Parts: sequence; structure tokens; C-alpha cells
Amino acid sequence: MQHSTIFADTKWKLKMEECISVFDMLKIGVGPSSSHTLGPWRAAERFLSELRTENLLQQIDKVSVDLYGSLSLTGKGHATDLAVMLGLSGQDPEYIPIENIDVIIKSIQSKSEIKLGNEITISFDFAKDIIFNKNFLDYHANALTFTAQMNDKSIYKSTFYSIGGGFVVKEERINAKAKTQIKCAFPYPIDKASELLDYCKKESKSISEIVYENEKSMRGETAISFELIRIWSTMLECMYIGCHSEGILPGGLNVRRRAFDMHQNLIGLANYNSPQTWLEEIRKTEVKFRQILKWVSCFALAVNEVNAALGRVVTAPTNGSAGVIPAVLMYYLVIENHAAGEKEIKQFLLVAGEIGSIFKKGSTISAAMGGCQAEIGVSSSMAAAALCELMGGTPEQVLMAAEIAMEHHLGLTCDPIGGLVQIPCIERNTMGAIKAINAAELALETDPKNAKVPLDKVIDTMWQTAKDMNNKYKETSEGGLAIAVNMADC
Ligand code: SF4
Repeated sequence: MQHSTIFADTKWKLKMEECISVFDMLKIGVGPSSSHTLGPWRAAERFLSELRTENLLQQIDKVSVDLYGSLSLTGKGHATDLAVMLGLSGQDPEYIPIENIDVIIKSIQSKSEIKLGNEITISFDFAKDIIFNKNFLDYHANALTFTAQMNDKSIYKSTFYSIGGGFVVKEERINAKAKTQIKCAFPYPIDKASELLDYCKKESKSISEIVYENEKSMRGETAISFELIRIWSTMLECMYIGCHSEGILPGGLNVRRRAFDMHQNLIGLANYNSPQTWLEEIRKTEVKFRQILKWVSCFALAVNEVNAALGRVVTAPTNGSAGVIPAVLMYYLVIENHAAGEKEIKQFLLVAGEIGSIFKKGSTISAAMGGCQAEIGVSSSMAAAALCELMGGTPEQVLMAAEIAMEHHLGLTCDPIGGLVQIPCIERNTMGAIKAINAAELALETDPKNAKVPLDKVIDTMWQTAKDMNNKYKETSEGGLAIAVNMADC
């Protein structure tokens, strides 16, 4: 099926000069997808908030949800329907105990009712009240409309667009921003990599130091530190859970978890009882050259298996690509620098977040707009830059590392089998992580004077490639592996 040309449109993009915090790029949530799970979940929460503002929440007796475009085509595999139900139930993806998810969903399905906003119970038939429409809305490939009814009459409607990485926007909001020319209040507003580099040179600061100054304009130093370490702890716990969980992933593809066996083979008999003691134990393990690739792959697999099982992950910059950044940071901690601690972890996350925001402003982090180059490509670029700074790279080399990582992901398509975030997604995170390490090493060995492709150019090229890419390869499961491999045979 060929869709309209909406994907090539740029009107949905965030306006340049908007502040994007590192904490917008690295968000704690629930798998398997940031655009198809986290975004719709947040949209449902915002819909409830609108109903409260309009004093309608207590009056309505029915809610329905229309999913459009990619949210409809891959929504089942990406658990969009479940996310919408959880959001309407008033659950927060950042804090909901994972074990509660199944209980809430089963209750909605068996009773055919939902406790809206955790306040009022109304009837809800998940098979009829979540409507999968094949058509696309004009504004963005991921759209959903909520309709509230009273006595069979529609009394309130609201449409949201899930634009990638868990970001959700409304058409009116973007138009309003365009009119009011909102400017970023950061001391170092950054739209392009070249501007970031100029600040570094002028102030004689590293990239992480510039980003830290920007973050300080939004929150106190204690809060920044606390949140960065909370993000890292979530990543570490996610890897830990993934390495200690065996079995088959949900969804019907019969994909066997691999991190468990791989981890067992690598670690052997070791003594630990928590994510932190596990990390220390791995540091003590003698890692042979050929095992480095296995360890890094194991960390990435672990995260994305947790993600595929609707577990808690950090969106970095998306859920489908959530394994790259933790795996590369873990590589630094267990292979490169055993003395590294919180300082280096925070530095890494600050750089990674900023590189992600430059991609978001200059191109896209939505697979429905740009294919997998927008997910794995961007995450690899973020990780490469962050690793390069920790390994002593100059700001020029750090940006070069980001450029190299993306240069070798350009054109990467998104074609998940069965619409599930499993094949090729889980393995692809291992590739993104290994490429990131390679990109950082190459940049460290290169004189920036000899670099031919600036990061901004590769971001422009990625966006151009996204616009040229056939829509079959933009998270629709209508091309590539999704068509070549019959799910029934898996
Ligand atoms: S193929 Fe890539 S972009 Fe598509 S769902 Fe998988 S990880 Fe995300």
C-alpha cells in the first residue's frame, strides 16, 4: 500500500531554537516503543488532563480511540492499544510497577470497563473502542484521536501526534509556537553542531560542560545529578534484569531471549546480588579480546529483550534503540576505565543527550518519518560522541565520532517483523553499540583538520534520505523483512 506524501512534509518538526533538555532525550518509560507505546500513553494522560480542565471527566460515559497511520499498522505489535488503556487508566509509565501492567490490562479486558484517570469507571470494549484505521492523517505518520461521549453524543475530541522518542504534540500547539517565535532561554542555545563547537572553543569548555551550563538554567545542580544517576540506575537495572531473564518473548514470534545464556557463558560462577555488585563483579572478570564484542552485545541484547517484554527502559533516544547507549557506557565502565564512577556516567549522558537533541532539531528521531537510521543511527551517534569525550577526545573529535557513527547508518530501514520490536530491532542494538565504539576509536585516531564531513552535513543528509525513503520502510511493516519473513513460520 502506498501512502500519501505526508512523510516528506517538514511542518510537524519542532521549531528550531526550542530548548530540548537532556532529560527530554533520555526518559524513563515502558517498552516496547517510544513513539508507539510511550507517546500514545502520554497522549492518553494529556487527554484526561484536558477533560479535567474542561470539567468533563465526571460526565462522560464512553471513550474511544482512533489510531492512524503507523500507529495503526504496527500498533498491535508495538502495544499501542495497551499503552492507550494504561494511559486512560491514569497510570504513569515512569513509575507504574511493571508487574501491575498485566493485571490492569486483564481487568479491563475481562470486565469490559475502565477506571478512567483512576477516578470513574465506565464501560470500555477494548476490541471495539480502540479503532485501527489504515489511513494517515496529514500532520504526522503517528496520529491518534480520543473521543469522549455522553449519552451517545460526542462531547470532546482531541488529536495528538507521537513524533518519536516519547514526544507528543498537538497541531495547534506547533502553530502557536510558530506564531509566537518562542526562543530558547539556555545560556548556550544550540540548534547545530557547529554552534556547539563554537561555544566550546570560545569558552574553552568540553561539550559536557556546555550542556551542563544549559541544564543548570532549568534546574539545580543537585536535581541534575540526581536525575542523571536515576537514569543510569534504570539502565543498569534493565541490563541486569535482561541478563537474568530467560524464556520466550511475548508477541507470537517465538523469539528466544539470548542475553541470559550469553551472560551465563561470559560470567560463569560469580558472586553478586544486585545491579551494582554485578557491575563490580564484571569489572573483576578477565575479559579477553574476543569477549569484548560478546559483552557489549550481551548488554545491548539484555536491554532490548526487556524492552520487547514491556519492561522498564530508558528511551535513548527511542525505546527500539534503548540498548545502544547503556551498552556503550557499560563498555567504558567495565573495559576501558575501572576507576570511572558517577562523574564519568553523568558526563557521558550529558553529551549523548545533546547530540540526540541536535538530531531531533535537524532531522528526526522517529522511525515513522526516517526509518531505523532515526533510531539506531541516532543512538549510535549519541553513544559514539559520549564515549569519545570520556576517552579524551577534543570537542572536534567528539562531533566527528557522532558523524562517523551516523554516516554508516544512513538509509537504514525500519521493517519489524510482525510489527513487533524484536526482529531486526534487538540485534540491531548490538550493531549500533559496536559501531559507536568503532566510531569513537576512529575519531580519536583522526586529526579533525582532515575530516571531510561535518556532523551538520550528515544530519542534513539523514533528513534528505528520510524524505526520499519509500514509506514501506518507515515503521509500517509493509516492506523488507516484515514482508520477506512470514510470521506464521517463525
Ligand atoms: S527496525 Fe529499528 S526503527 Fe524499526 S522498530 Fe526496530 S529498532 Fe525501531
